[in-house]
Amino acid sequence: MTVETFSSVTDLAARLEAGEFSSEELTRHYLKRAHSFTGLNAFITIDEDRALSEAEAADALRARGEATRVTGIPIAHKDVFCTKGLLTTCGSKMLGNWVAPYDATVVARLGSAGVVTLGKANMDEFAMGSSNENSHFGAVANPWETDRVPGGSSGGSASLVAAGLAPAATGTDTGGSIRQPAAFCGLTGMKPTYGRVSRYGMVAFASSLDQGGLFAHTAADIALLLPYMAGFDPKDSTSSPTTDDWLDACRREPLAPAEGLTIGLPKEYFDGLGVPAAAVDAARRALESAGFRFREVSLPHTAAAIPAYYIIAGAEASTNLSRYDGVRFGHRCGNPESLDDLYERSRSEGFGTEVKRRILTGTYALSVGYFDAYYLKAQKIRRLIQEDFLAAFADVDLLLTPTTPNVAFEHGAHADDPVTMYQQDIFTVPASLSGLPAVSVPCGFHEGLPLGMQLIGPHFAEQNVLRTAEAYQRLTGWHLEHPEGF
Ligand code: GLN
Repeated sequence: MTVETFSSVTDLAARLEAGEFSSEELTRHYLKRAHSFTGLNAFITIDEDRALSEAEAADALRARGEATRVTGIPIAHKDVFCTKGLLTTCGSKMLGNWVAPYDATVVARLGSAGVVTLGKANMDEFAMGSSNENSHFGAVANPWETDRVPGGSSGGSASLVAAGLAPAATGTDTGGSIRQPAAFCGLTGMKPTYGRVSRYGMVAFASSLDQGGLFAHTAADIALLLPYMAGFDPKDSTSSPTTDDWLDACRREPLAPAEGLTIGLPKEYFDGLGVPAAAVDAARRALESAGFRFREVSLPHTAAAIPAYYIIAGAEASTNLSRYDGVRFGHRCGNPESLDDLYERSRSEGFGTEVKRRILTGTYALSVGYFDAYYLKAQKIRRLIQEDFLAAFADVDLLLTPTTPNVAFEHGAHADDPVTMYQQDIFTVPASLSGLPAVSVPCGFHEGLPLGMQLIGPHFAEQNVLRTAEAYQRLTGWHLEHPEGF
């Protein structure tokens, strides 16, 4: 059996279907690779036994003629998703030895379609970060240059797909945690519309923003996997009952490229930006040659997105994380002297610095006397940002922007400067605040490191977003470039 290092899910699915190899053989191939490149620190847990028994079950499903289009494909899950009987740490000491009693809907749905879980990917603690340096389990390396960060918070998922340790991985995106690491690692990464993918069993960070999604090499691969994890879930009160024939179609046929859409270029995303803007401009020319039309648009409240996001996300995190009190589950301090002592020391010992910073700022923003000045104001800004997008989508089908203001930075570069780190999310946070679907697609290189561009669509327009990305990937070969040494 020969499997190319950076095989796409689409290729592997076709070869499984043709009987060229079994899921068990394919799973062994990826397990071997995962064990060979532990230096990246991309996995927190690799569960060989579970992966192989799931692979056997996938092969049996195929033998019975019950295979889906993705049966037998091995992937990794971000360690934010609950996995029954398998460690779910969320990158935190707080959950350092927590084994979930149930599977997240995402894990359960992909599993019942025959997708194999190789293990759990490293991540920033509780998904807070833009560099994967906030993990209790150590920083993750970017396969393109190992002294660079892979981005965050889904840095492990991005690193392991970029290094060919799995053909795809799940991630979550609250303010950019799929799109930014996808850009830094040369991958295609999608955050679907808020409500498209169930949050049940996804450890909560900021519940009005959190959304599960995928990393892969191509838009076609994402369109192949997404229908098996998306869709209404009665166990998530914000899950959308919207049904979508297109998602059903993706279970049957390959993604067709889009044609002739009108794409807006929001001027606020390009002002003063050098290299990433030039790469996006080259992408515009490529798409223009294929019949896409472009128009400049304005999203005037863009600059207010970062402060609003960090107030809202922190506020929601401060309430979500109050459940970690050392009583019911998670880290518990030794020999508590009183209930207050138990709470205080369990939380001080269990959470890392960035998580504590978010809890403190979030609690402050919600406190009596400051609520109106911070939380309420941030909510008003969120509304204005949403209205900017809705106004733009009256004139254009999609928006095209850079994903990040720069390429992957060196480990430690912003470690002591949270505000500079937060600025990394400047182009990804607005779509998050507005609940919009967005994909990051490789669009060039700067000094040997990948650059990404972002396509943002109206709510539930995943179809146009992915089909435009597919059209672009037929025109260009950036997504086919891979790091050396793997
Ligand atoms: N970097 C952002 C933050 O730290 C986004 C994180 C995310 O999307 N999970 O909040």
